[in-house]
Amino acid sequence: MLNELGVVRISTQERALMENLERLSSNSGSHSPSLATMQQSLPEIQIDIDACFLSNPLATELFWSYFNADVLADQQLFKRMLEAYPSQNRVIAEELSSAIGVDPGRLFIANGATEAIQAIIHNFSSHIHINIPTFSPYYEFAGTDHRVTKFQVDVEKEFVLDPEQYVQSVLRSGADTAVLISPNNPDGYLIPDDDLSWILSRLSGLRTVIVDESFVHFADRAGSGAGGEVNGLPTLVGLTDRFDNVTVIKSMSKDFGIAGIRAGYAIMKKSRVNRLLDHGYLWNTSGMAEYFFSLFARPIFLNEYRTVLDTYRGYIDRFTSMTAGASFVRAYPTSANFQLMQLPNGISADVVTTLLLIRHGVYVRACGDKIGLDGEFIRVAIRTEPENKIVFAALKDVLS
Ligand SMILES: *Cc1c(COP(=O)(O)O)cnc(C)c1O
Repeated sequence: MLNELGVVRISTQERALMENLERLSSNSGSHSPSLATMQQSLPEIQIDIDACFLSNPLATELFWSYFNADVLADQQLFKRMLEAYPSQNRVIAEELSSAIGVDPGRLFIANGATEAIQAIIHNFSSHIHINIPTFSPYYEFAGTDHRVTKFQVDVEKEFVLDPEQYVQSVLRSGADTAVLISPNNPDGYLIPDDDLSWILSRLSGLRTVIVDESFVHFADRAGSGAGGEVNGLPTLVGLTDRFDNVTVIKSMSKDFGIAGIRAGYAIMKKSRVNRLLDHGYLWNTSGMAEYFFSLFARPIFLNEYRTVLDTYRGYIDRFTSMTAGASFVRAYPTSANFQLMQLPNGISADVVTTLLLIRHGVYVRACGDKIGLDGEFIRVAIRTEPENKIVFAALKDVLS
């Protein structure tokens, strides 16, 4: 028996699975259920490709090879990692500072960038102005004593941030904090250097301006607008020298493919780092995260990382050129390692994600819960070359 769902026909069994999936999603708030949760709750669904989670799979392999050789091969070292406290925040900052080109006193090491976001919002902010769509912790971590106001980015203009309108919106809102994510999640838009500098100079009266560069490694380096490089990697850290109120936030989860070990950092003025560390965050990372940061500071690892990053960026380019020519979906240009896609009229993102999952084992992100995204969108993470081909064929099959 076939059911009609918009313009898509599905079987009764597919509909039952869809209902179970919807239940699971609504239990995980504004983040997608993880692969492990999915597999546990819905064992009848086989997930072959996780194109929901935004990580560089080649970098995970690279980390894994180092971790095997350095840690797993030395059982005593591994045991010690489990048994002992990791180094304190300031010690790890000392180790990492040269790799990212900042004074250690301005570096706050975080248990994932999410922790840095929470620390900043809870300590240096009372009224946050966000751009929508955005990464949800920026408004979810606002407490009851915070205000949150919003600037709607123009979907019709492919998410290009209009600097003038944006600055006016921030100043009119009366917010003391503005958040800029570049490239942005979920749309992948990179703010050009000139626009960013202009915006920051106009917002120099705010208490805090957050610049989240978690996806900046994926941006096209030639015309990246990434405002400089340190150790051959694009970064916006230089902005913190020019603007006292700017905090740069960086996750390691996506570009290094290591979300499980929880490693991130923020760069801000010294007095703020002191204020955070004088009242907490002493041993807020783990031995694994500390090991990662020590790798990051090793030139030989960074060299290999740049090589896998280049290879992966080639995959991104090839995937986005395939989707650019697709007639069955509207794929937005991206400077990150994922692509936002708008579905044709009458097709729902929940239906498409379910069909991709049950017919092709491909897991993508439905964006129905993203505020500021009107219409039906999915976000597709870019993976390895063979996986990307399967994802593209699956999209074509479900949407054609
Ligand atoms: C994923 C993400 C983060 C947080 O990453 P962590 O895993 O906590 O390091 C921060 N900002 C953006 C824009 C993200 O997409």
